[in-house]
Amino acid sequence: MTQAAESLSRPPLVVRPPANQDDGLRLSERARLLEQRYKGLNSIQLLDTAINEIFAGRIAVVSSFGTESAVLLDLVAQVNRHTPVIFLETGKHFPETLAYRDTLIDKLGLTDVRSVGPAADDLNWADQDGTLWRRNPDLCCQLRKVLPLERALSGFSAWINGRKRFQGGQRQSLGLFEAAGSRIKVNPLVTWGTKDLARAFVERDLPRHPLGAQGYPSVGCAPCTSKVTGDEDGAADGSRAGRWAGSGKTECGIHKAPWASQAPAKGLLR
Ligand code: SF4
Repeated sequence: MTQAAESLSRPPLVVRPPANQDDGLRLSERARLLEQRYKGLNSIQLLDTAINEIFAGRIAVVSSFGTESAVLLDLVAQVNRHTPVIFLETGKHFPETLAYRDTLIDKLGLTDVRSVGPAADDLNWADQDGTLWRRNPDLCCQLRKVLPLERALSGFSAWINGRKRFQGGQRQSLGLFEAAGSRIKVNPLVTWGTKDLARAFVERDLPRHPLGAQGYPSVGCAPCTSKVTGDEDGAADGSRAGRWAGSGKTECGIHKAPWASQAPAKGLLR
């Protein structure tokens, strides 16, 4: 099915913007005030404050269980190992990633890891043969990541993620708090660099993702992740190289969806 046909052959997907414009503005102001108040905290202090005070019972972590994920999950577990952790089980992960998820659950004592998958209806509509990633990777990410995450975050007021400024692109200007649709995003690792991450793995005796040592600095879905030879963007700092290599795509969309950012709403959300 062509991209155009996919867009036309299903009832149109309708963007759901924030309930009203004022809500978005109020959330932006709240993020700004949170940033102002808590900008002096280190990562674990920030997590403690966010998880146990500001958003107690209303916050989740979103993790890919990728090559750097253990650091954030370890910090979260030190603060409260019962914090909900959302893992987008796209059905396209390397088996090593699924095994690593289970290893980290055991190692860190995480009690509430939620593996959420795409809706069967969505896959029946657009990806019956499982090759949508090749024909239309943006739609594939939409169905396998963006929409499942929106559903999984229902009932939460905030979510924690592990983006860092050194990863470049739009991440270079990240603050600790962001307004994200109807929620606040918390970014406790924004100032961390590769040396900080490496030190945390050693000091905290954290297991490594098995594919890291095999030439994958960043690990996502298997069809869209490749080994890095040293001449790709990002290879120098080992950040996001090898993801959607050669396609121009750099993000899966969960941080750009209308409900997850303040970007103008023009996506495909139902
Ligand atoms: S990363 Fe690739 S396989 Fe995974 S959801 Fe996106 S396009 Fe599909």
